[in-house]
Amino acid sequence: MPLGEFDLIARYFTRPTRRAVLGIGDDCALLAPTPGLQWAVSSDLLVEGRHFVSTVAPNALGHKSLAVNLSDLAACGATPVAFSLMLALPRVDEAFLQGFADGLFALADAHGIELVGGDTTAGPLAVGITVMGEVPPAQALRRDAARAGDDLWVSHAPGRGLGDARLALEVLRDRAAVPGEAFARVRRAMEWPQPRVALGQRLRGIAHAAIDLSDGLSGDLGHVLQRSGVGARLEFAALPRSPELATQPDALLRTCLLEGGDDYELLFSAPRTARAAVRQAAAESGVAVSCIGELLPERGLRVAWPDGRTTARATRGFDHFASDWEPT
Ligand code: ADP
Ligand code: MG
Repeated sequence: MPLGEFDLIARYFTRPTRRAVLGIGDDCALLAPTPGLQWAVSSDLLVEGRHFVSTVAPNALGHKSLAVNLSDLAACGATPVAFSLMLALPRVDEAFLQGFADGLFALADAHGIELVGGDTTAGPLAVGITVMGEVPPAQALRRDAARAGDDLWVSHAPGRGLGDARLALEVLRDRAAVPGEAFARVRRAMEWPQPRVALGQRLRGIAHAAIDLSDGLSGDLGHVLQRSGVGARLEFAALPRSPELATQPDALLRTCLLEGGDDYELLFSAPRTARAAVRQAAAESGVAVSCIGELLPERGLRVAWPDGRTTARATRGFDHFASDWEPT
């Protein structure tokens, strides 16, 4: 007999509760808020063929499903507390479930976040997660708080940069080539993103505005500019890039850096007087940061290119309904 719905939940997703008053198994989970703090809540849905390829390793999928949600908490400067998990599974595949749970809980434990409930149904493979975190009142990093004159910063792994996840996708689609071992590094960016949770928390009180990069730099920056009523000048040469991406043809390099998607880095603005504080926050968080431009009073996005030209650029990011999309 295949494993039933409740046995599946019990075997792969139920663990002793820590922070929750009541966890998996009842109609609701019960959580006691920390007095004086606000909840930060966010959800993300990942659908096979759209957000991940069918050949993804189950542990990588478990990791990424939670990572993209933790990235939203990071962008608000919140401390992760709990999450719920919505699963649609085509069949009960125990090897898949074990791998998925391993990847999911490894990242959950690394960030001290606890699974407190969810829903499980049969259907085309999809993973939805809602994360809950806490943040002191008025200290959440928001999209609407950028100011003209701010520096624009982006986080990244030391020696790496933006656009690797997009480069990996282009390689999988046979539109780019990255040889063997180098491709493993690029693919890692796509499948194992590291949410910048520690940096987000350390930027509270330092950064003005923040967003996490999920749909590409220019589109996500566009959200900040629009919500804050300002413009920006991006210094193309200052955009951090991996050695694998840096050696790609110009057009692909521009696409990956400016429109990549799936980066899960923090894009944030901070006053010039905070440069040392930003660098210290990054060092304490074990990540690199690059200053990639500045915010301007005039609306719109301008890109300063290495040849000295500056051009205006539309701030269009990936849109599931408006963008061209091909099955992967
Ligand atoms: P209900 O019918 O009341 O919605 P369910 O029968 O769907 O409850 O779920 C039983 C318990 O298992 C609930 O506590 C629910 O939160 C939990 N649960 C269901 N699916 C998951 C999952 N994928 N991950 C974690 N907990 C889950
Ligand atoms: Mg239910």
